[in-house]
Formats: sequence, C-alpha cells, structure tokens
Amino acid sequence: MRVGMGYDVHRLVEERELILGGVRIPYEKGLLGHSDADVLLHAIMDALLGAAGLGDIGTHFPDTDEKYKGISSVLLLGHVGKLLEEHAYIIENIDATIIAQKPKMKPYIEQMKKNIAATLQIEEDQINVKATTEEGLGFTGIGEGISSQAICALEKMTNYSYKVADNENDCAGCCGCGRNK
Ligand code: ZN
Repeated sequence: MRVGMGYDVHRLVEERELILGGVRIPYEKGLLGHSDADVLLHAIMDALLGAAGLGDIGTHFPDTDEKYKGISSVLLLGHVGKLLEEHAYIIENIDATIIAQKPKMKPYIEQMKKNIAATLQIEEDQINVKATTEEGLGFTGIGEGISSQAICALEKMTNYSYKVADNENDCAGCCGCGRNK
C-alpha cells in the first residue's frame, strides 16, 4: 500500500464562483485561481499523485499554460485517474477535509462524493469528505480563503492480483473464476 497527502489553499474573492468537489455552491464569493480553483479536488489530486510518486498538480497542469485557464478541476481529476491507471495503481480510499468558516458545506458533501467517485470510477464508500471551521482563527477563520487537506491509499495492481491468486480457496476479490461460488 502507498499513501499520499495533499494540501491546497485558494483566496476567496468577489465575482468568482465557489466550486468545491465539482459542486457549484451559492455564496457571495468564490475561489481565485488559474483553473476553477476547486481547492478540494486540488488537494485530492496532490494526494493521489503523491501516493503514486508522480509529482504534483503544478507539474502536470502548470498555471502558466493557457489551456488550463478556467478549466473544471473535475476534468483534471479525471486526467489524474487515467495517469494512475496507466501506472497500474488502484485507489483504496481517499479522505479529505475542507477548512472554511463559511458557507455551510454539509448540504453539498454527498454530491461532492458522487462527483469524485464518478470521475475516478470508484465507489462512493471509498471517499470521505468532511468540512470544518477554524473557529474564526487565521485566514480561513476570517474568510480570506479556503484550504483543504487530503490523504489517500493506493495499491499497485500487481500486488492486488497477487493477493487474489494467493488465496485460492476464498478469492472474494475475483468475480470471474467461480471459485468463490
Ligand atoms: Zn489549487
């Protein structure tokens, strides 16, 4: 198993849409950035890339590249999912936290999880998204910005198949061979 962590911050400004986990959240401000500034997905992508030893989102999607201007981070997340697949990694789980004083995130968490699961082609129960405030302290507390942290676990596909093959009498991980019937 390999683990990775991700951390990201974006500034809250007027006349920007607030998009977190691919969900448009009604609010008086939005996050400033080259892309749609989806701080949650950025932290998740960095965790995934980190676990795979593939650098960070700045390397893969440089903010000097016009092609990423205003781009939906859901598309970038899909790209990271493909990269993991190419490098034979399977996602075990992702856990992430949004740190924001306002607005309330709870009504949107389920949809965020759905978006992330659909984009990475994993189950919703492999993803946990939570939100917290910093009790009015620091830059998130005074509403200057929103930050996010994420952690994930990956498994190399070769290890995964080995584990299944090794366990001949109870290969619950395999649905094709019929041994578990
Ligand atoms: Zn970012």
